[in-house]
Formats: sequence, structure tokens, C-alpha cells
Amino acid sequence: DVADAPMELTDGFHLVIDALKLNGITTIYGVPGIPITDLGRMAQAEGMRVLSFRHEQNAGNAAAIAGFLTKKPGICLTVSAPGFLNGLTALANATTNCFPMILISGSSEREIVDLQQGDYEEMDQLAIAKPLCKAAFRVLHACDIGIGIARAIRAAVSGRPGGVYLDLPAKLFSQVIDAEAGAKSLVKVIDAAPAQLPAPSSIARALDELRNAKRPTIILGKGAAYAQADELVRELVERSGIPYVPMSMAKGLLPDTHPLSAGAARSTALKDSDVVLLVGARLNWLLSHGKGKTWGAPGSKRFIQIDIEPREMDSNVEIVAPVVGDIGSCVAALLDGIREEWSGAPAEWVETIRAKREANIAKMAPKLARNAAPMDFHSALGALRTVIKERPDALLVNEGANTLDLARGIIDMYQPRKRLDVGTWGVMGIGMGFAVAAAVETGKPVLAIEGDSAFGFSGMEVETICRYKLPVCIVIFNNNGIYRGTDTDPTGRDPATTVFVADSRYDRMMEAFGGVGAQVFTPEELKRAVDEAMDSGRPTLINAMIDPAAGSESGNIGSLNPQSVIKRK
Ligand code: ADP
Ligand code: MG
Repeated sequence: DVADAPMELTDGFHLVIDALKLNGITTIYGVPGIPITDLGRMAQAEGMRVLSFRHEQNAGNAAAIAGFLTKKPGICLTVSAPGFLNGLTALANATTNCFPMILISGSSEREIVDLQQGDYEEMDQLAIAKPLCKAAFRVLHACDIGIGIARAIRAAVSGRPGGVYLDLPAKLFSQVIDAEAGAKSLVKVIDAAPAQLPAPSSIARALDELRNAKRPTIILGKGAAYAQADELVRELVERSGIPYVPMSMAKGLLPDTHPLSAGAARSTALKDSDVVLLVGARLNWLLSHGKGKTWGAPGSKRFIQIDIEPREMDSNVEIVAPVVGDIGSCVAALLDGIREEWSGAPAEWVETIRAKREANIAKMAPKLARNAAPMDFHSALGALRTVIKERPDALLVNEGANTLDLARGIIDMYQPRKRLDVGTWGVMGIGMGFAVAAAVETGKPVLAIEGDSAFGFSGMEVETICRYKLPVCIVIFNNNGIYRGTDTDPTGRDPATTVFVADSRYDRMMEAFGGVGAQVFTPEELKRAVDEAMDSGRPTLINAMIDPAAGSESGNIGSLNPQSVIKRK
């Protein structure tokens, strides 16, 4: 008798897992604890990859960069209150960088939180998350899990990508409903990030500007890398013949050795250009807001901008030809115009850029080739530059002050989405989270070049790297401190605020967890140690001893430090 047959049941735990899997999400980065420990266990049992970190911020950074690499939202799973707040930093950072990510946090019971009666880890997480991400949702009923996850996915990846918060109160997980009704409640998101075609009139306007340009420059940003329209972007550069400057995470979209690369002639390209085409790059602080002496004489520029976010236009300076749409569609439309009739970029300008680039590269060369101890940033990076040249499919993670600024300029990239770094905020602490996800998502070897200070923010994750046996080679640029290791406390009481224990053996941290540790003093030793790590695929940490006096305050952005005019005696 059908009425007597036991009803098949499902619950909140299983519906969350089923909803993620239905949408092709197979990896979770997180830290277990109440109330999501069993969710992680069950997800693993159901075939998902669940990677546990030592701190939620690192799990969140892993999820964020997974989103950048795959165009699918990276998932970070945390406990309530403090775990949520730790993850929130990464969610805010992902949103700032336009990386799609979903932070799923367990939370305490609404009845108690809303009456502020003092629950375990009580916090109104949804309200706190809202201003720091693109969208925030809470699911209270198991039958709404399918819709809740669908909304979160669509919000993360459609339009300008970003971070989404999904609040799942503890009680939701054990709610039971009929399995068939549960299965029907799930939503497979169709066309989560729909193409957004540019208006033909906006394309015509942009083409007019390009045709009239005497000194055109293309700037490729990490939006262009994210879009995965690699062939179209390459064709745009090559057919138009316009020199291009890659922003940090757009390096390798075309190889940095490309004849039209103006990477090593960046200052000239920005200052002396007349028409600038921005492709997935914002005119924020990283581009001096499109004005000031970086950009030459006031009023000398005409900006064309391709972006999926209409409100990005005119954010800092006037955009004379806004092209709103997804990069693939916009670049394809521009190419149609360029194929028809195009006389190429003015040869004189292309030659100016080429000559400047060659001169700058030649000037840099001897600094990179020096093989002596103590190493400075240039000589150490000279060795690592060769490593990437020989292994162009490896992923490069990079953070620090000098370590970041100099590596960005020195290490050529050859393939798209291989360089992962501090991004829009210039934030420290992304290193180990990015390194884990880079290895997990791509299966390729990862080289993480870290300032000793930057590494400290996520260093405990070397245990995570060893636990999952990931092919990650970490190189610490150890100059005994932040910017430099030479400051002293004027009162003689404490160590100066910017120095660490001298000659720390970071390599021994790796050995503590079964990984390989090495200490090196010369570029040759460094190269050898990195090659060995990359060949073996074993988790490795190389403590690269850098002259404590090498390095400048705040790297390239020292000018952002406020200066005191008061001299105290
Ligand atoms: P960078 O720091 O490399 O200059 P930004 O993060 O400032 O890059 O800019 C990236 C831009 O790319 C953002 O304004 C974002 O809206 C845009 N963007 C991201 N994905 C796409 C896409 N698929 N199509 C068009 N624009 C995109
Ligand atoms: Mg340092």
C-alpha cells in the first residue's frame, strides 16, 4: 500500500550539497566547526573536494582565486561569528577585485540572534556582510536551498563578478523534507553569466577614436584575463598593431615578450599616448586615476573603455567612447570594424615604444645577471625569471612590497592567468590561499614568491600544503623585515616596528610538516633549489637570504606614505 510506504527523506545538509553539485561546483575551501562540520564531511563523502585550512581568510582567498581562474564561483565554508568575519575579509577582497566567490557561513538561531539573547557565536552576519559584497542572502527553509544557491551563483558570476554571502542558520541543515520534493526544488542555473553585447553605436564611436589616434595604447586589465577571450584579445592587438600595456594580473594574456608589448615602456606609453583603450582595467589608483603626471599634459588623453559595468565609465576621468558589454563580445565587435578597413597603428609611435622597451630591458639586464651573496631583489628575481621562462605553464603567486613590485616588472609571463597577486587593494596575506587553489584548480606546479613579511599573514597554511601534498614551491625573500631589516628602535628598548628575528629559518617550518626546506644564499643556489622542487612536485619552502639593506620603503608606492612635517627632538 503506497500510503504505508516509508517516505524517502532528504535534509538541509544534502540539499546544499546536491544544489552545488548540480551546478558543477565540486570544490569547497573552508575551516570546519559548529555548525558546518558535518556538511563538510558529507560533501566529501558525496565526492566533492573539501579542503580544510587553518584560518578562514586563507580559505576565502583560495575560493576567490579559484573563481578568477575558472569563472565559476569559488566556495568558502566557515563557522559563525569569528569564522565568518575571517572569511569576510576575503569576500570583500574578492568583490573589490571582481572575482566570483560565495562565502557560505553557518549562523546561530534567528530567534535568539534577533532578540539579542546571547547565543553561541551570536552575530547578525547577513547585515554585516551586505555592505561588503555584491549580494547577500539567507535561507531559512530547506525547500528554498535550491533557489538560494541559484541566486548566489548568478549574483556572483553575472555582470561584474563579485563576492556573495550566503547565510545558513544551523537549524536549516537538519530540516527534513520529502526527497522527491527536495530534488524538484533544486535549480540548475542556465547561462549564469549571459553574454552582454555592446551597442553598435558604441563600437562605431570607439573605432572612430582608434582610427584618428596618432599614438594609441591598449591597456589590458585582469578583467580581460578573467573573460577568457584570449584569442580575441590577441587578435585585437595584432590586427590593430597597437602597443599594449598589461596590468599585473593580465600579464601573459599575450606573452610579455610579444613585439607589441609596452610593459617595459609603460611610462612612455601612458605619458605620450593620445588615445587609450582600456580593456577590463579600471582607472583606479593603479593607473593614477587617469590623470596627473603619469598621463602627461592635462587634456592630452582620449579614453575608450570596455567594461561590463556601465557605472565604471567616467569614474575618474571622462570616457569619450564607453563600450559596455562583456569583453569577448566587445572585442569581437571591434575586430569586425578593424578587419574591414584599417591602416594599422602609426609606425613612428610603434617604433618609439619598441626602442624605449629595448633600452629599458638592456638597462635592467646586468642587475639580473649578478650571481653573488648577499642577494638583492634583482639578482634573486633574475634566477626566478629564468625558472618561469623554462616553465611557462607554472602558476606564479606573488606578494610583498619590493618582492611584488620588482617581480611584476622582472618576471615575464607567457600564458594567460598564470600570475596571481595582491590585486586591487594591494593587500598582503593572499599568498598561501592563492597557492593552494592555484594548484588544486589547475593541477600545475605553483611558484609562490613571498616577501618574509607578506608570508607571515598566511604562513600556517604550509601545513595545509603539506597535508594535501600540493606541488607548491614557496620562495621567501628573507631580508629580515618589512621593506628592509635594518631599522632600529630609537629608544633602544624593543626591536624596531619593521624588523623580524634576524636570519629566521622559514625553511624549517616546512620540514616540520614533512615538506622540503632549503636555505639559499646565491641566485645559482636559488635556481637549483626551485628547479628541484618544481621537478619533484613536493611541497617546498626555500628561504632565500636577501641583503637586509636591500629594498625601499613600501616598494614602488612609497609616495602613499603620509609624511610628518614636525621634527621632534
Ligand atoms: P586591473 O587591476 O588589472 O587594472 P581591474 O580589476 O581594475 O583590473 O578591472 C577589471 C575590470 O574588468 C572591472 O571593471 C570589471 O567590471 C571588468 N570585467 C570583469 N569581467 C569582465 C568581463 N567578462 N567583460 C567585461 N568586463 C569585465
Ligand atoms: Mg622583507
